[in-house]
Amino acid sequence: RAGSLAKSMGYEAYVVGGFVRDLILGRPNLDLDLVVEGDGILFAEAMARELGGRVKSHHKFQTAAVLLHDGNRVDVATARLEYYEYPAALPTVELSSIKMDLYRRDFTINALAIHLSPERFGRLVDFFDAQRDLKDRMIRVLHSLSFVEDPTRILRAIRFEQRFHFKIGAQTERLIRNAIANQFVHKLSGPRVFHEMRHIMEDDRPLASIRRMDELKLLAAIHPDLALDPRKDEVLAEAERVITWYALLYVEPKPEVWRIYFLGLCAGMEDDQVQGVARRLGFSKHLEESFLALRHSIRNTAQQIFEWDYRRGLHSELYFLLKDLPLEGVLYLMARNPKETVQRSISLFLTTLRTLRVELAGADLKAMGLPPGPRYAQILRAVTAAMLDGKATCRAEQMALAK
Ligand code: ATP
Repeated sequence: RAGSLAKSMGYEAYVVGGFVRDLILGRPNLDLDLVVEGDGILFAEAMARELGGRVKSHHKFQTAAVLLHDGNRVDVATARLEYYEYPAALPTVELSSIKMDLYRRDFTINALAIHLSPERFGRLVDFFDAQRDLKDRMIRVLHSLSFVEDPTRILRAIRFEQRFHFKIGAQTERLIRNAIANQFVHKLSGPRVFHEMRHIMEDDRPLASIRRMDELKLLAAIHPDLALDPRKDEVLAEAERVITWYALLYVEPKPEVWRIYFLGLCAGMEDDQVQGVARRLGFSKHLEESFLALRHSIRNTAQQIFEWDYRRGLHSELYFLLKDLPLEGVLYLMARNPKETVQRSISLFLTTLRTLRVELAGADLKAMGLPPGPRYAQILRAVTAAMLDGKATCRAEQMALAK
């Protein structure tokens, strides 16, 4: 329908980028990016009218997002007809606008498009041999200034290489090493680097990407204290194992996994070093403080967890030790202490204790005639402890205990 709609407006529309790449690779991708040769915003508005939805547009960039009533989202960009002026007074060349649009992208594999117009529907547009690179499993840039133009592409190259088990092409890798050696990464703003790092850490198995970043000296280029050492590597490997294990439990809530990897990257650092890294990456004051606070609570809990006796310890002790630590901190503690009993203790907390709920609430205490006050919290805590330690397993026993 988008193709016919575009045609009725005298435009040509294409689906582009990651969606096309993943279609060829046979991987699911629900992010639909369209490029329109014409007015992208007008097209997005017409699409929203026809399919039911609303439009958020950015006039400066001539882009729009169509937010459909069914919850789906389609991003629309405008490809303008461009005149490409060669230096040395060669003639100005008019390039087809879709070609120019694709030429500005990061890698060949992301520079594919599919025609949507009714006459050419489904036909692949491949100016840069992307199909060959997909077949050869290669990440290649479109031109040699690509990383100078935008050094965040270095992080993207690593992410795609590891995610798809591709290989960064030899020439592309040389360009990456050059860009890093020539300090192009220093020019990047903190939030842009952090955005891409977060993306990497939220991909399925980020350890390989983190190691690749280190091998290319990218971590050190972002901030000297970020470079890996054997201890960090070990913690990060264990973190990946713990996160994969936790994901298999299918329990809520889901952790913000980047925080766990980031704790690993900061393993062994002093607070002022962590602050330095946080500032380089443009953390907000709030994020910096919450990250430092998380590290402190982990440190405070670590020793006690280490000492808690897995065989004889009271479950309530374990519960109260861990209950206020954010999930990311609990998982990190597990990664940081590969000692088997520590891992078992934390696993017991996560799989069993954390989800237990006392069946008694403040209202019950009130109904028993107890005046509201700080004693409520103490009573509920005692009842929780008894329940966790198997001393008050049903509501009646809990009520009796409360009395
Ligand atoms: P993912 O599956 O991680 O979302 P994606 O390829 O869809 O991968 P996006 O970040 O959503 O990645 O970008 C969409 C498209 O925009 C890419 O396929 C690429 O063509 C282009 N793109 C994104 N970032 C850049 C960049 N820094 N430089 C050039 N092109 C980019």
